[in-house]
Amino acid sequence: MNVDLKSMTLEELGDFFRQLGQPAFRAKQVFQWLHRGVTSFSEMSNLPKSLRQQLEEHCTLTVPVVERRQESKLDGTIKYLWRLSDGSCIETVLMRYQHGNTVCVSCQVGCNMGCVFCASTLGGKVRNLTASEILDQVIFTQKDSGATIHNIVMMGIGEPLDNFDQVVRFLHLVNHPDGLNIGMRHISLSTCGLVNQIDKLAQLGLQLTLSVSLHAPNDEIRSRLMPVNRAVGVERLMDTCRRYFQTTGRRISYEYAMIDGVNDSDAHADQLLALLKGQQAHVNLIPLNNIEESPLKPSRRVRQFQQRLEAHGVTATVRRKLGGDIDASCGQLRRKQMKESGALSGKEQPQ
Ligand code: SAH
Repeated sequence: MNVDLKSMTLEELGDFFRQLGQPAFRAKQVFQWLHRGVTSFSEMSNLPKSLRQQLEEHCTLTVPVVERRQESKLDGTIKYLWRLSDGSCIETVLMRYQHGNTVCVSCQVGCNMGCVFCASTLGGKVRNLTASEILDQVIFTQKDSGATIHNIVMMGIGEPLDNFDQVVRFLHLVNHPDGLNIGMRHISLSTCGLVNQIDKLAQLGLQLTLSVSLHAPNDEIRSRLMPVNRAVGVERLMDTCRRYFQTTGRRISYEYAMIDGVNDSDAHADQLLALLKGQQAHVNLIPLNNIEESPLKPSRRVRQFQQRLEAHGVTATVRRKLGGDIDASCGQLRRKQMKESGALSGKEQPQ
């Protein structure tokens, strides 16, 4: 038996301790210890010693180890590369904004979505993270940095809706009043646009912000940049997004990485406006982050593009770049580590 207690809800812990013949209050005690980031069961000082030993024998306790830590001298952004129990590495970024400290978490080791501009997907997906491994990124970033976390963005490595059950479990755990108690309205989840899972998420009625990585105003460009579009298409994605808004009442935020000569002309802005017509959308323009392996370059027309959207009534913001001196864009640090440790196979090595 190798039970991952930290992935369990309080109710599930209740059942677990009932079966061990323990009093009901044990569940809450253990839940609180786990979410505070204990690194061994022996630290759970209000539990009888025999129970601590029993847990030690039968349960796992996920504790990520800091493999690399880079702190920006420019803005205090910290990027962590964590080593997990199976040796896999994932990234987490702590960003200090005026509206609070925000942590960007990963949800998979690698990614299968294949977006051509993204460093996280170059080696494919190795595995899904468990809810506890996603939660640990928030707990241990807070513990290591001493910064209280106010907001979470699921914009790290991986596609959250391709790990649906563990991600939803994580959302409930991190939102729990006996845990980190981070409000759903302080959480953003970013997806490349898996339509069936967006519908499934809508049914849960969570008050989080859904970000959809659109990046292109038509099928021709989007299918070239994002293989996921080939099966679905922009129209069906927009239908799904409108349905999401109707069901949840939550306005969608569209991410649009601006790439030189690819998706950044006035004509593209007009197509985007037509696509979003009638939606209460918000567009977040991201100047493309250079990745070594890619010929795509950042756009030089971000402001003009923004102004054109704004002039036609669509709210558009430009994402501020943090941690420019520390490879803070997701997927980059993990790749650097893999290259340096010789873990990249021939297939993954850039030509
Ligand atoms: N799988 C999720 C989360 C990915 S990362 C998704 O696709 O939304 C968060 C955002 O960063 C996504 O919008 C992603 O498309 C974007 N992104 C990835 N690589 C980028 C790059 N090189 N420059 C700018 N944005 C990038």
